[in-house]
Amino acid sequence: MPLKGFLSGKIGSGSRGASSAMSDTEKLAMLDELEQSGLGWFWACDRDGNVTYLSAAIAERINVPLGELLGQPLASVFVSTDSDGRTKSLSLKLGAHKAFSGFAVRSEKRPDGPVLRLSGQPVFNGSKYAGFRGTGADISDEFHREEETQRLAKFDSLTGLSNRHRMKQQIESTITAFKAAKRNCAVMMLDLDKFKHVNDTLGHAAGDELLKQVADRLKRSIEVECEIGRLGGDEFQIMIPDMDDRGELGEIAMRVITMLKQPYSTEEGRCVIGASVGIAIAPHDGVNADDVVRSADLALYAAKNGGRGQFRFFSGELENEALFRRRLEENLGLAVQDEQLFLKYEPIVSAEDQTVRALEAHICWMHDQRGEIDEEEFASILDGSSQVIEVGTWAIRQACQHAAEWPETVRVAVNVPVPLFAADGFVDAVSEALSDADLPPNRLELEISEAVFFGDTNVVDRTLAQLFKMGVRLTLDEFGSGYSSLAYLRRAPFDAIKIDEALVSEAQAHDSNELGLIKAIVALAGALEMDTIANGIESTELFDQLKACGVKRMEGPIYSDPVSRETVETELIGDTWKIEPSGDRLKRARRRTVFRKIQVIHDDHSYEVTLRNLSKTGALIQGLAEVPKGTQFVVDLGGGQLAVATVIRSNGDTQGLEFEQSLVEDGSGGLCTRNRVSPYALASAGAPLMALDPGDYKGMTGGLLGQGGSVPQFGYAPPSKYEAA
Ligand code: GH3
Ligand code: MG
Repeated sequence: MPLKGFLSGKIGSGSRGASSAMSDTEKLAMLDELEQSGLGWFWACDRDGNVTYLSAAIAERINVPLGELLGQPLASVFVSTDSDGRTKSLSLKLGAHKAFSGFAVRSEKRPDGPVLRLSGQPVFNGSKYAGFRGTGADISDEFHREEETQRLAKFDSLTGLSNRHRMKQQIESTITAFKAAKRNCAVMMLDLDKFKHVNDTLGHAAGDELLKQVADRLKRSIEVECEIGRLGGDEFQIMIPDMDDRGELGEIAMRVITMLKQPYSTEEGRCVIGASVGIAIAPHDGVNADDVVRSADLALYAAKNGGRGQFRFFSGELENEALFRRRLEENLGLAVQDEQLFLKYEPIVSAEDQTVRALEAHICWMHDQRGEIDEEEFASILDGSSQVIEVGTWAIRQACQHAAEWPETVRVAVNVPVPLFAADGFVDAVSEALSDADLPPNRLELEISEAVFFGDTNVVDRTLAQLFKMGVRLTLDEFGSGYSSLAYLRRAPFDAIKIDEALVSEAQAHDSNELGLIKAIVALAGALEMDTIANGIESTELFDQLKACGVKRMEGPIYSDPVSRETVETELIGDTWKIEPSGDRLKRARRRTVFRKIQVIHDDHSYEVTLRNLSKTGALIQGLAEVPKGTQFVVDLGGGQLAVATVIRSNGDTQGLEFEQSLVEDGSGGLCTRNRVSPYALASAGAPLMALDPGDYKGMTGGLLGQGGSVPQFGYAPPSKYEAA
């Protein structure tokens, strides 16, 4: 097509200066040359917007025959690249009869093809609009670069999930919009457990691969509408709009945790990883984005401290708990000085003849305000504390002193924290502990986790060799936790392998695969002339299975929980201590059952009663006299948790209540209501809009209940009887 077709009307009409000296023919020739050289692309359309001219180079670039384009509406030949439709379409641009520039388009027929930038100028015949003509340019490279920059600004390059910046924006805008509409929004924080080990054992590349697979599983495991992001490292965040049902949230969290703990395979090897989740809900746990995220963070912190691999809902009490823990960590040094720490011993029993062969020392703390802090909680406080070397050394010294008093046939086992193992002077400290206690070295078993192997190879090998030479027994702890390498077993003279407790409990839950793995570990240990130990055994069934697998020594509630030094000494008076395994010794409840005071509301009057028992379907309350069956109460479990209940049994000062809606698991072995009073509801009743208070409903609403003038219908039971119960 001659370029003449592009030019309707006079070229350069109205232009002044040097160019006006050029004739139209010369100008045309110049444009022709420009077009031929590929430096200039032109287009034109008539007053109806149909293409009247298009440089052949454009048709070629978008790979559509020129003949198919001429005469077509320009707005259907090219479409805007802006996928979200915010930018006006080309037909609107043309319809405005105004000049435009820099409009990025793609061929309608080749949406994956190049990106062109169109500029156009309306053409008028006198005052009559006659169409458009303009230029085009290929800006694909620039466009994709810009697109990539924008993507990087919003998304995590490793996993493709939203990044921290975008998550923050999304949560902020959602919560702001939802505030006006009085809608809820849940935020979950998720952090992988001991992810550093994966990096340390399999390498950073495997760690990256694992993070990608985690992202994929997260996307697959959450079926409700949500936004998932990776905030950095191994930390993920999930925003679920319109969700305040803690039953459903708990189920989602459990599903995520279960999906994530299935094994991963990477080029570098197979691994497993756990995850902990903290959950907070707006507006209950925070009315703005920062507060909700902070609450979810605190809940995550509690899930980590509670032993990892679990979820926690935020509750106002967690704030105090977190503060208290920090203080505990700070005071650990004083606890050693003030002799507040003490050891408890857990029997390690021969599966063959039920004789106690060794006692594993666990560190506990008698705290002056808090009472006894048991071994599990203490271990989580010690983990990462700056006092770990001091406390670990103290435990070895104490254990040696105690064991020196026991019969020769019974050994003492002590865990060696990784930082202690790696510390200068560790071997000397062990040697000194043995000689000061006058304990033969072979009566001390040091339990060493394979995490020590991530340290300096020379130091690790030298330390192990020195301990071996000294004659202490060495146990490789937490074997099978996912990073185990045969190389560790070959490198060190271990006397026994302790199978990871998580593997044992998996076997308990599922059987099959895990038991096969345990069998393989036992065979391996046998070939290397090492013993095997399994701990955390709770059921006789599992005991039988492990015994059939050939596990030599066992530990766990099936034999005994950790007991005091005094109990050990009493049991060992006859030189041997035998314990028959029994499935009846259920692991003692970790959560202390406290009979807490709660409020129950009847007819606008609030009564204080003692909560004696709480199950998913009902509660037992004590304190009120003569409450007839069929009475309805609203039970205030604190923090906006109100449960409607009916008295189904009444006996003197005690009533059995049945909830209208069942309670749900709170992730830490406790129960909570599915829903809570909405701060929006309170706000519309006159209270300021704020997150729920951990206290009771009455206090929180500042007398919204109208308790002031209300008349009690029930009397309190006589205090003596009430108190004595
Ligand atoms: P915890 O159970 O307490 O969460 O222990 P953890 O080992 O998972 O430790 P934490 O969550 O504190 O640290 C996460 C680690 O993730 C720290 C860093 O070594 C590693 N990491 C951070 N970013 C990346 C990454 O992009 N790729 C890989 N492979 N590792 C990363
Ligand atoms: Mg982590």
